[in-house]
Amino acid sequence: MLIKLAKKIGFCFGVKRAVTMAEEALKTKGRIYSLGSIIHNREVVRALSKKGLKVIKDTARIRRGTIIISSHGLSPRVALEIRRRGLEIIDTTCPFVRKAQAAVKLLGQEGYAIVVVGDANHPEIKALVDFVPKNIFVVKNRGDIRKLGLKKTDRVSVISQTTQSTKNFLDVVKALAAKGFREFGVYNTICKDAEARQSYAKSLAREADLMLIIGGRDSANTNRLFEVCRNLSKESHLIETEKELKDAWLKSARVVGITSGASTPDWVIKKVVNKIRSLERSYSSRSRDEICTQISKKGVV
Ligand code: SF4
Repeated sequence: MLIKLAKKIGFCFGVKRAVTMAEEALKTKGRIYSLGSIIHNREVVRALSKKGLKVIKDTARIRRGTIIISSHGLSPRVALEIRRRGLEIIDTTCPFVRKAQAAVKLLGQEGYAIVVVGDANHPEIKALVDFVPKNIFVVKNRGDIRKLGLKKTDRVSVISQTTQSTKNFLDVVKALAAKGFREFGVYNTICKDAEARQSYAKSLAREADLMLIIGGRDSANTNRLFEVCRNLSKESHLIETEKELKDAWLKSARVVGITSGASTPDWVIKKVVNKIRSLERSYSSRSRDEICTQISKKGVV
């Protein structure tokens, strides 16, 4: 069995930066609060929790201390409220997310109606839409456009969640362009890391019999990779850890492709590879035993 890793795998730049900032803060402060998950990976959050990180849903009960903000960013309204209450903020917002926030702010000030292609419930988008007071709409795909009620006389701009699939973003862009608005601007804020990860996963899925996508089930970019692979590979599975691996998936696979979301650390990937190798070893020795039993039943041995 050949195990092939995608060319881009493990932490992305933004997640690595956020985790390093959290680890450094924990060393000096001992206890810090994370507003929501610092990254979408349970294993990493568990490891950081052992060092003093406490994940909270809101800051209402926190009277003093430090709040760490994930790489997805934070609504300016919430940030103001936290500062007003005298709490310290460690802001790990990824510079690429910050770029999208700055673009949205500027477009809002210039009076554009802004269409965001993304998931309205994702923390990045929840924060992003709070950067402008009105006229900002989130769409999942081109099908959502007609619900927006935009008119030809409108000035419209379209922007993307950093982890969107390029294809979906371009689909929405094309559908909006066809509306013939008075003015129409496109801001591709898809992160280059996310884009490259999707394209490497795609080429790996084409040659693999089995694709394993390692990452959190609540991670947008992991789910995007799963979608991409599922559309191409015969068999694809999203797993969070090596414990979810199933013997049956591996039995007939000659080439196993592995990719990961941007929040998956190398040590989780390594554990998956080691488990595949050990399952493979036990499977081959079992096959040898079965063959010996069959032969002895026939009276040959
Ligand atoms: S996926 Fe891209 S935008 Fe998101 S944290 Fe990583 S580098 Fe930043």
